[in-house]
Amino acid sequence: MPLDDAQARLRLVQDRIAHAAGLANRKPSEVTLIAISKTHEAEAIRPLLAAGQRVFGENRVQEAQGKWPELLAKTPGIALHLVGQLQSNKAGDAVALFDAIHSVDRPSLVTALGHAMDKAGKRPACFLQVNIGDEDQKGGCAVAALPELLAQARIATLPVAGLMCVPPADVDAAPYFALLAKIARDNGLDGLSMGMSGDYETAVMIGATHVRVGTALFGAR
Ligand SMILES: *Cc1c(COP(=O)(O)O)cnc(C)c1O
Repeated sequence: MPLDDAQARLRLVQDRIAHAAGLANRKPSEVTLIAISKTHEAEAIRPLLAAGQRVFGENRVQEAQGKWPELLAKTPGIALHLVGQLQSNKAGDAVALFDAIHSVDRPSLVTALGHAMDKAGKRPACFLQVNIGDEDQKGGCAVAALPELLAQARIATLPVAGLMCVPPADVDAAPYFALLAKIARDNGLDGLSMGMSGDYETAVMIGATHVRVGTALFGAR
């Protein structure tokens, strides 16, 4: 992808975020754009870095370990977010590489992350993932299990930044975003990681603090 394209795509997404934020009387700076670079090689990521984007997301620890160390070494100020499911045995690797983890969804993972953070002396921000549409195949804890998971995360001293969800595909995401926002409010949490290429403006209007945008920035995977 040429630099001009990367700049244009980034500008467009930023403008749309700013517009949606304005409609909700929010500041654009309240919304962090996470560029989801999964499946894309370093060559595809560099133009976006050159365009000024600094926050990126990956869904697999191993894939991220393959391409990011070199990019991180060359460009200061990058923040890496893990947005995909995490196995407990990869908790140490995830803590070492990522600045935020959006897929904390079960007690065993909370325990593993707590130990990994103690050992590493580094505490990436954590989002608790909620299975907001109660779908069998999706990651995330059940809505009913969230208060207990949050309590466990606090005991393990994970820095809980907020909640994350991936709503059911092919239906209006807005009610699911609104539900996640309500659950966050009920539990005294501020961060809301929600919204992807097809619905990030909606998510921003409903209160998203972090949107995870891949296709609209990188093109189709
Ligand atoms: C791939 C992915 C995204 C980005 O999806 P796009 O539709 O390409 O913007 C966001 N969140 C998660 C958890 C993902 O796996």
